[in-house]
Amino acid sequence: MPTDPLPTYRFAPSPNGYLHLGHALSAILNHDLAASNNGRFLVRIDDIDQTRARPAFEDAIFEDLDWLGLQWAPDIRRQSEHTDDYRAALARLDALGLVRRSVATRREIAEAAAAAEKAGTPWRRDPDGAWIAPPDEAFLTTDAIATRIATDAPATLRLKTRKAIAHLAIDLAFVEEDAGPAGETGLIEADPTLWGDVVLARSDAAASYHLSVVVDDAAQGITHVVRGRDLFYATAIHRLLQALLDLPAPRYRHHRLITDETGRKLSKSSQDTSLRELRDQGATPADIRRKIGIG
Ligand code: GLU
Repeated sequence: MPTDPLPTYRFAPSPNGYLHLGHALSAILNHDLAASNNGRFLVRIDDIDQTRARPAFEDAIFEDLDWLGLQWAPDIRRQSEHTDDYRAALARLDALGLVRRSVATRREIAEAAAAAEKAGTPWRRDPDGAWIAPPDEAFLTTDAIATRIATDAPATLRLKTRKAIAHLAIDLAFVEEDAGPAGETGLIEADPTLWGDVVLARSDAAASYHLSVVVDDAAQGITHVVRGRDLFYATAIHRLLQALLDLPAPRYRHHRLITDETGRKLSKSSQDTSLRELRDQGATPADIRRKIGIG
């Protein structure tokens, strides 16, 4: 009989700012769930975006987690050290005919969307509120597209999402052990079309967030993904990529978000709620647990 895989959890911050109370909630939940399930707690450094990652922030992550009293497994994965893995995944998707090269810039898509909306034609947004990239770039002239391709202008590689769904011809679902923003829970049908043709790689990044986390979670044997509710809808794309790449599906738990007094989600730039600022003001790890409601 096959044995069940070891329950494996991860906390995967990006080293582009100091950890705040929201990160503390994610890290502590992952740590405590791993402990209560006799599993492993891994820390991953999600530094695929090298334009924003800073070594000082990475050092601060480990310092803060240590201060919180968490213990993690010694094997640390850094995305920047695994670009070959992402390239291989990309090549596999490309071999299936599911990758397209897109030369329109984000700005051009935004301009086209704004112009269309002004003319009364609605343009779809993704769950993060960004304009969906259209399947063709008809708002650019064919000459402009040809010139950019001929001159090797920076391009974005995108997943042909609808074609990918048709290629699989199976229903995609995932298990949600907590809840999504609208209370979605239990077995959730994944709808990747919400995202349009998502970015897989850019000229300045070997892999997008979506592609890298899917490859990493599989490489690390993650069985349970515990992360903020803001990433709930992204799971639809993650399930699609897992299915296309023959990777196992972890179980998901999207936890509540910690907000500031005005009800806004915390961001790395809100220094007042960074763990080190709170520590400097005299807070103890027990105070942090109390503040985030897990005492
Ligand atoms: N690195 C991502 C972040 O800091 C989290 C990745 C994930 O949990 O899927 O938001």
